[in-house]
Formats: sequence, structure tokens, C-alpha cells
Amino acid sequence: MGDGIYRTVLPAYRFLQRLKNAATGLIDPPVVVLLFHRVTVLSSDPERLAVSPDNFRRQMGFLKERFRLVRLEEDWSALSEPAVAVTFDDGYADNVLEALPILEDVGVPATFFISTGHMGTDKEFWWDRMERILLRGVNLPAAFTLVDCRYGQSWPTETAAERQTLYHALNALAQKVEIGRIDGWLEQLAAWSGQQEGGAGVNRTLTREELRVLGRSPWATVGAHTVSHAALSALSTERQREEIFVSKETLEKELDKKIEVFSYPFGNRAHYNRDSIALCRQAGFLKAAANFPGQVHRWTDPYQLPRRVVRNWDLDTFAGHMKNWV
Ligand SMILES: [Zn+2]
Repeated sequence: MGDGIYRTVLPAYRFLQRLKNAATGLIDPPVVVLLFHRVTVLSSDPERLAVSPDNFRRQMGFLKERFRLVRLEEDWSALSEPAVAVTFDDGYADNVLEALPILEDVGVPATFFISTGHMGTDKEFWWDRMERILLRGVNLPAAFTLVDCRYGQSWPTETAAERQTLYHALNALAQKVEIGRIDGWLEQLAAWSGQQEGGAGVNRTLTREELRVLGRSPWATVGAHTVSHAALSALSTERQREEIFVSKETLEKELDKKIEVFSYPFGNRAHYNRDSIALCRQAGFLKAAANFPGQVHRWTDPYQLPRRVVRNWDLDTFAGHMKNWV
């Protein structure tokens, strides 16, 4: 799509979206669920997961001033005005170190969905490991060949742009397979790059003690996000059951309270299936959050709640998006 067309179509699309939101808002006021991952400053952030503490504080201040704030696990059926819920996925340490103090200070409740397999380890999520090897690595060879039972492909890696292409290609492939296969790819990448396992560093996930800090905060709710952060639709029903039930049980044991909400890793409609939804019901979750845009209404499936991803936006940009979303 050319730039000119984009400039003409986008405002029209936004106008229609606002019109539609206003019309449905009259029938049933929406809840808009926001999705964050990290609050920190990173030197390299190809997935744009991090919001700076300064921007996050301004965003939360804006929400506090303008909207009714609700918790994800609450019953929203009696709401008579639009509302906003804040959520975090994955379980990075910065959720407790940087985000929580701001939420508590401003007075905004949030739900934190935690992948339990990384908790208390110094192991990075696979996308962070890929990023560290491919985008922050030095003296890398000129090409990479991935050897896998299904994929055997080579990529040139001489320029930064080529390495970026490879990073995005592997990232897309990895969202469709079991974690064990991705571990195999990471081993190949590590051997190819000559890079040592260096600990998670800035990409560290929560320790058990930090999880308990979340569990004790009156502003935080903890939810489950599988064990290994697997794309559930790539797994057998039995493996899905394990991922969903074990993450719930682990958190319940750590926190000594019932875990009532869940979010699907990656979370667009291709990343989970009917089995995933049925298992979430069976596990006793009240709601499950996905990751595609939209509003929550009383007719929305509580096991496929849409969410809006928030980026590292300044206040004006954030306010502009909120105007389109609510
Ligand atoms: Zn996630």
C-alpha cells in the first residue's frame, strides 16, 4: 500500500472505528483490556515489548484520571460506563521492579500472567536468546543454516538487515512449534555464533520471591500463562493440559491462593484452539485473555478476551490510541 493511500484510508478507517465504538457503547459500555509486557529501558527491543518507566507513569496517570479501572477477574456485567483493565504477559522481573511501584503509586490495578517454567531460573525466553545472539552478537559468520526435521533453510547474515530478517523468520517459525524444537534451534544458533550462555541479564524473569511480592500487592492479580510459553495450538491435547494445569498449580502452590485467570501465549487466534478453551474451562479459570484487538462486551466470549497492545508511547500518542479504542 502506497504512502498516499495509507494517509487517506487510515483516518477514514479510524473514523469508522470510532463511529462503531460509539454505537456499540450506547448499547453496552465496553471494557478495553490493555496488554503490556515490560516496563524498562532496553538498548535493543525488536518486539517493542518495553515501555519506559516515564511513559508508563504518564499512561497510568491518564487512565486513572479518565477511566473507570477494573480488574480482569471481576464480573463486568453490571458496568454502566466504559472501563479499562491493565494486564501484563510473561513474567519479567521488571514487572515487579519497575511496573509495580508505579501501579501502586498511581493506584492502578493490574493482572500479571506468568509463564512458570522460567520463574526462578537465569534462562531467557527463546526470543530474547535469539535477539541476543542475532541482533547483539559480534563477529558472526556470513550465513546460517537451520537443520531441523521439517525446516532446512539458509539465510545470509552478513549485514544487520540480513540478521534482522533471519531473526524475524526464526521468530515466526518458532511460534508454530514445540519448545523442545526451539531449544534445538537455539543450540545451533549458539554453536554457530560462538556465543556462550551468558545468563538472562536485562531479560531476567521473576524469582520466586519476586512472584510473592506480586502476590502480596493489593494492586496486583496473578494469572497463568502456561509453563513453557508454548503456542498451544502446536501441542497435543495432553501436552496442552500439562501446560495449562501445571502453570496454574505451580502459581497456586507458590502464592497459596486460587489462580482464576489465564492468557494464551502469543495469543492470536492461530496460537490456541478449541481444546485450549475447553481446558481453560476445565481448569476452573473464570476468563482467558487472547491477543487480538477489540473491545469486551457482555456478548464477548470470556475465554477469548481481546486485548490492545500498548507500546512505548508518549502521553499524546497513548491518549490518541485510547480515543480510538474505547
Ligand atoms: Zn507471552
